[in-house]
Amino acid sequence: MMDPHTVSDQHSNKDGLMADFEAVIGLETHIQLNTVTKIFCSCKADSWEDPPNTNICPVCAGLPGVLPVLNEAAVYKGALLAAAMHAEVRLVSYFDRKNYFYPDLPKGYQISQFDLALGDGGYLDVTMPGGFVRRVNITKLHLEEDAGKTKYEGGKRLVDFNRCGVPLVEMVTEPDLRSADEAAQYLIRLRQLLRWMGVSEADMEKGHLRCDANVSIRTVGSTHLNTKTEIKNVNSIEAVRAAINMEIERQVSLVQAGGQVESWTLDWDETRQRLNKMRSKETEADYRYFREPDLLPLELTSEWRDAVIHNLPELPLERQLRFMTHYQLPEYDADILTADRPIADYYEAALTAYEGDPKVLSNWIMNEVLRMQNELGLSADALTLTPEYLAEVIRLVDAGTINAATGKALLMKVQQSGQAPQAIVIAEGLSQVSDDSALQSVIDAVLAAHLQEVESYRNGKEGLFGWFMGQVMRQTRGQADPAKTRELLQKALQEKR
Ligand code: ADP
Ligand code: ZN
Ligand code: MG
Repeated sequence: MMDPHTVSDQHSNKDGLMADFEAVIGLETHIQLNTVTKIFCSCKADSWEDPPNTNICPVCAGLPGVLPVLNEAAVYKGALLAAAMHAEVRLVSYFDRKNYFYPDLPKGYQISQFDLALGDGGYLDVTMPGGFVRRVNITKLHLEEDAGKTKYEGGKRLVDFNRCGVPLVEMVTEPDLRSADEAAQYLIRLRQLLRWMGVSEADMEKGHLRCDANVSIRTVGSTHLNTKTEIKNVNSIEAVRAAINMEIERQVSLVQAGGQVESWTLDWDETRQRLNKMRSKETEADYRYFREPDLLPLELTSEWRDAVIHNLPELPLERQLRFMTHYQLPEYDADILTADRPIADYYEAALTAYEGDPKVLSNWIMNEVLRMQNELGLSADALTLTPEYLAEVIRLVDAGTINAATGKALLMKVQQSGQAPQAIVIAEGLSQVSDDSALQSVIDAVLAAHLQEVESYRNGKEGLFGWFMGQVMRQTRGQADPAKTRELLQKALQEKR
């Protein structure tokens, strides 16, 4: 993997059809901030499980004569995200009115930020399929309020204002992405970052992270930006990937046949997995932006901004690289162990307690703890099996007190009982049978009871060795020291030859 600050211009295009062309993609994302209340009133922000129109008030429902009051938590989370994206947090930014008419927009305008937004610039370094790091630059990062929802039911259009006034960050990338896979990877890393920072739940299915994809093609080597289309309504990573691939193929076939790409807006039909044309010419709507007269300029002190920057945690990619350099972990391990903050913290806490080989610990977590997490649907910080308990189990295995199979089973026992590993080993008599004479007598008994198999083994059926191992393990309820058993069993089978 390359240093994240090296910008690569490698491509990860699919070949074949694409041989002469490359795709040019820019994403517009809307991120729902996970504040308790809405951005300009004190209504509950998250209405996912609530009936329509139950979290509304005169402010967010757009009644006349009321005034918005800016929610500091939304500003804080927006600024934290801007800082994490390496954007400059503007000390003075403004809210503007974006005017348009739509049934789910009761005020007739959306309060947004236009020219002088909270964030200025920024980028996200994304490790792409193929291993190189692509820097995706940010064109726009601003705060705004969400609109409501409309839906059709029984031939009627219904509106739900619950979502009106929910805080959003809109983030627009430069056309820096070069394939559907790269676009998908950007969203995967953005989602990871949002959760890592604790600013959004970033659940695409719930609309916490929404994406429109802009797609054009050009001949490889060109720096020209050709006419693009915009795909709306792609609500999962896989939909983004499928829709963009389909659109790239459409544009390439069109151009190869001598046609020209027109500036369409396309709608992704999830059930039929295809793109529908919504409108042919994206009319540059006149939103008639003007400064929001009901809000003061958003002025931050440099102390406040410094505090935000000070609160920035080590970011996922930085942490992954540190895991690789400090603990000599393979890139693959370091990536998985930094998938979210709880698992990264879990790994480092366990390592402190374990004081052993970082890769051995990584294996235990990747094989056993992640499986347990998946089974139980728990994040690492919610496990009863604490990092300290995990370390204790591995130390018991390393010391030969229990064998690896017992150790693995012990993890779930600790998780379910909350008891310390040592205590369970003693209470259940799980200590490995590694005492020579005890093992020898088990082996002798096994051989005596299976003379025919012993005979076959000695006549060359060496594949039976594993079966003998299994018998000894069964007799010792899985607690025999495998290495010692193998050694003694080999000797016993040969001696009597
Ligand atoms: P519009 O005028 O349609 O709103 P913008 O210039 O504001 O277009 O860009 C919107 C998004 O489209 C951005 O993410 C930008 O990176 C992307 N974009 C702009 N031009 C192209 C292009 N030729 N091909 C692909 N994406 C593009
Ligand atoms: Zn309200
Ligand atoms: Mg635009």
